[in-house]
Amino acid sequence: MHASASPYPHLLSPLDLGHTTLKNRVLMGSMHTGLEDGRDLRKLAAYFRERAEGGVGLIVTGGFAPNLAGWAKPFAGTLSTSGAARRHRVVTDAVHQAGGQIALQILHTGRYAYHPFAVAPSRIQSPISPFKPFELSVRGVERQIRAFVNCAVKAREAGYDGVEIMGSEGYFINQFLARHTNKRTDQWGGDYSQRMRLPLEIVQRTREAVGKDFTLIYRLSMIDLVPDGSTWDEVVQLGKAVAQGGATIINTGIGWHEARVPTIATSVPRAAFAWVTAKMKAEFLAAGITTPLVTSNRINTPEVAEGILASGQADMVSMARPLLADPQFVAKAAAGQADLINTCIACNQACLDHVFQNKTSSCLVNPRACRETELVFRPTVAKQRVAVVGAGPAGMTAAIHLAERGHTVSLFDAAAEIGGQLNLAKQVPGKEEFHDMLRYFRRKLDTTGVNVHLGTRVAAADLTGFDHVVVATGITPRDPRIPGQDHPMVLSYIDVLRHHKPVGKRVAIIGAGGIGFDVAEYLVNADEAGHVHSPTTDLPTWQAEWGVTDPALSPGGLSTQRPQVSPPTRQVTLLQRKAGKPGAGLGKTTGWIHRAALKNKGVEMVGGVNYEQIADAGLMVTYGDKRAGATWIECDNVVLCAGQLPLRTLADELLANGRKLDTDLHVIGGAKEAGELDAKRAIDQAAWLAARL
Ligand code: FAD
Ligand code: NAP
Ligand code: SF4
Repeated sequence: MHASASPYPHLLSPLDLGHTTLKNRVLMGSMHTGLEDGRDLRKLAAYFRERAEGGVGLIVTGGFAPNLAGWAKPFAGTLSTSGAARRHRVVTDAVHQAGGQIALQILHTGRYAYHPFAVAPSRIQSPISPFKPFELSVRGVERQIRAFVNCAVKAREAGYDGVEIMGSEGYFINQFLARHTNKRTDQWGGDYSQRMRLPLEIVQRTREAVGKDFTLIYRLSMIDLVPDGSTWDEVVQLGKAVAQGGATIINTGIGWHEARVPTIATSVPRAAFAWVTAKMKAEFLAAGITTPLVTSNRINTPEVAEGILASGQADMVSMARPLLADPQFVAKAAAGQADLINTCIACNQACLDHVFQNKTSSCLVNPRACRETELVFRPTVAKQRVAVVGAGPAGMTAAIHLAERGHTVSLFDAAAEIGGQLNLAKQVPGKEEFHDMLRYFRRKLDTTGVNVHLGTRVAAADLTGFDHVVVATGITPRDPRIPGQDHPMVLSYIDVLRHHKPVGKRVAIIGAGGIGFDVAEYLVNADEAGHVHSPTTDLPTWQAEWGVTDPALSPGGLSTQRPQVSPPTRQVTLLQRKAGKPGAGLGKTTGWIHRAALKNKGVEMVGGVNYEQIADAGLMVTYGDKRAGATWIECDNVVLCAGQLPLRTLADELLANGRKLDTDLHVIGGAKEAGELDAKRAIDQAAWLAARL
């Protein structure tokens, strides 16, 4: 399709870089997946090949260290020798065969390194690493610069189309720029012209070494979001110098890793930081600098990306996780099938959380991500009639893949709508992305020809005509058996989120797992009529709540005032029996955000309680060994969020009727095992089952 005839004319228009032309304005942002580590890069090649086939304009790899000091962790991916360059050929060849372009990101972690050989401008430990870095000598700084340049040369040798020099997110280069991490008094420290010498030397010397016909991206930290971050004047000065020093493209970096402002989580509004790139764009225009600027963070649909480009805020859009979620993102947009894009919900559950657990990344909505060579859906050679019971994420995923493979699939749900518990999740402020997940499922069910039967509760007797039955009936809430729980003031999370039953001004929530936290978030943001004011859909409110401001007003873009949080609509107490911090089991990279958001809204989080009784006065609790006596938590409602148990009734009936487990009866998702069951596991189980049936 010709770009001008497409629904996204700006997004799909080519970008002329002088020595080469990118086919569109989509840059696949750098993401560490775990496939970079080690010597065998074939899985990485397969992963990038699919993204190149899907039409992305320019891929940037996850970070590769230029030397051992720059490793993120021991044995992290490194590119410093010709031998390593030869091993990377499998990656560059795969991308080029698919018609794509790929740049290697050079990442030196400096004091963020998770190993004892970390180096930095000054011997100041970061709050997110247990290792105190060594202060580099002048010769040591020179060695690091040479390592960057050498890495770029090896990248070119390996067949990469370019490199991205990682100058943001608080890594090595950023550490030289900011005063609070650079206390040097030599030529690499002191005033800004000295502190910015490091990136300039790296860019200029890299450009000299790689020649003119090689794409050099510089990732510029445009808003540090840490106290004592760079001033706006400094950022502009560096941006211009880097552009004039040889960068082909400047990419936007948002926030240091140690920042206490969420930058990519699902509760961050879409395109929440595009205005920062736009601010730089205005500076470039005024100075007559034409170096293309890439904007980034929480851009996950072609509409949002097109809007940014059409309004001139940036020249290109970086999307990273959205291309994990759907490698065909660009191709679908170009074909006018944006409604079939599997949208990244920004949950971090299978990508970033995995990285922090030393596991290979994948994607909650697309378990094939980073498993391209293992999870393969082949057309079936033996067509079967399959009944799938339950249209939650597990059942829908199974039904879609089974139908795509050629089976005849009927999907049943007792409810009048598809989605199962996703319909509860989408009510939670900050989880609006679940609406798009449901849109994707709905469209895929339509286009794959699954026979969907809603409002149909099925029993074993209804399923005799099927070769296989997949039971995906989900869960039933756990009964916490608290004396007095049949009091009319007691509600379940389903009453609150599905039936929107009235909830009073003072609420005690029993259970501080994922659902307890979500119900609390809902209750402090919903008014009595059930209207929810979500900061995620209101950028100024979100910025005020997290203290994000114009970097021209406050260095690093972090407001010096206390966060301006609108008062909670209810007084909420969130309780758990376990001693210790409620929310400890939430996502690795997002738990702190949930805790901070609720704390800002005055939610009291209490661990180590025993539930004694519910009565007119509220909830009676004791603490720990009960020696301190009982306390009443006065409240209008108690909401039960005490976990879930598998709903096995149908599976048990089918077994009793003679079906054989894992032969012609398959149980997945919450129905199989509810403990710690999330949509990631439900979808993953369904996908693997559908691939082998
Ligand atoms: P379900 O989603 O429970 O679906 C089961 C379906 O089966 C239901 O629609 C039900 O009507 C149907 N059914 C049952 N019996 C029958 C029958 N006999 N006949 C016909 N139909 C039947 N997970 C995450 O990973 N990330 C999150 O951020 C997240 N947030 C959440 C927020 C909330 C408020 C809630 C409640 C859950 C959240 N979850 C989250 C959990 C996630 O939604 C569940 O793990 C997931 O939905 C389980 O999927 P499932 O397909 O196994 O079951
Ligand atoms: P959960 O995370 O297992 O939490 C259950 C809570 O109930 C815990 O706080 C637990 O703490 C408490 N509890 C357990 N047994 C109890 C009992 N007998 N009496 C009183 N309290 C009891 O489950 P959930 O919150 O119901 O969530 C269900 C699943 O959905 C989870 O596994 C989660 O993965 C998923 N989910 C994920 C997200 C997300 O953002 N990723 C959000 C929502 C839900 P104590 O035992 O200490 O009291
Ligand atoms: Fe996006 Fe979640 Fe998938 Fe990560 S796991 S790519 S955040 S949908």
